[in-house]
Amino acid sequence: MNKDRKLIVAGNWKMNKTVAESLDLVRSLKIELSNVKEVDIVICPPFTALSEVSKAILDSNIRLGAQDMSEHNVGAYTGDIAALMLKEFSVRYVILGHSERRQYHKESDELISKKARAAHAASLKPIVCVGEMLVEREAGETERVLDRQVRGSLAGLSKEQMPETIVAYEPVWAIGTGKTATTAQAQEAHAFIRRLLASMFDETVARKVRIQYGGSVKPSNARELMSQPDVDGALVGGASLEARSFADIIKNSI
Ligand code: PEP
Repeated sequence: MNKDRKLIVAGNWKMNKTVAESLDLVRSLKIELSNVKEVDIVICPPFTALSEVSKAILDSNIRLGAQDMSEHNVGAYTGDIAALMLKEFSVRYVILGHSERRQYHKESDELISKKARAAHAASLKPIVCVGEMLVEREAGETERVLDRQVRGSLAGLSKEQMPETIVAYEPVWAIGTGKTATTAQAQEAHAFIRRLLASMFDETVARKVRIQYGGSVKPSNARELMSQPDVDGALVGGASLEARSFADIIKNSI
């Protein structure tokens, strides 16, 4: 695959894995993936496992991500985690605005953009998720929804911050459902997002931003999805919970 942008595949473990289970998975991933140089590999365990996983991947090509963070730096925000707390565990990436946070925690584009700015201020790379629901796709509103989410969630980021920002296109109807967008649907949405980035920033920025696809990515569909010109990696949920399937997605992407 000959793209200017390096592929990035991230595993979103969601609310799965104890510390012991996390370390088991990491042990296998390190063996499976030790030779991979072509792809940026990121794992996003739950907060409770970050400390131990961070130590376990020190000598590897696997980087650490978190699944969310606060827009605030410090203070009376019960249950929240700040960027600098993540940095203590050498976290490099943070998923923001996942559809499950938009849905269950009512996160708005405005909040997500505040988090994205706070992430950059701490030199964390945000993985900003966008994606339409099934009713929106069926009503022909996909581009309108993506336009609103991309503009809103990236509001206030500078041109310089954008190449260090990852956008994840995750059609909500494809998350955890076994339904994958067709490669044509994925490419169409990614190309739309890239054109939007060009109009919000400029062509050079748009060419540099990596756009991941997410939604029931598996070893069997990874190659075809990644071969699309505007698909630069994957955000993987279910299939990232097992070393074999996550490693195969990465290997099949190359
Ligand atoms: C996700 O939650 O980001 C995701 C893509 O999940 P899954 O791969 O399980 O559809």
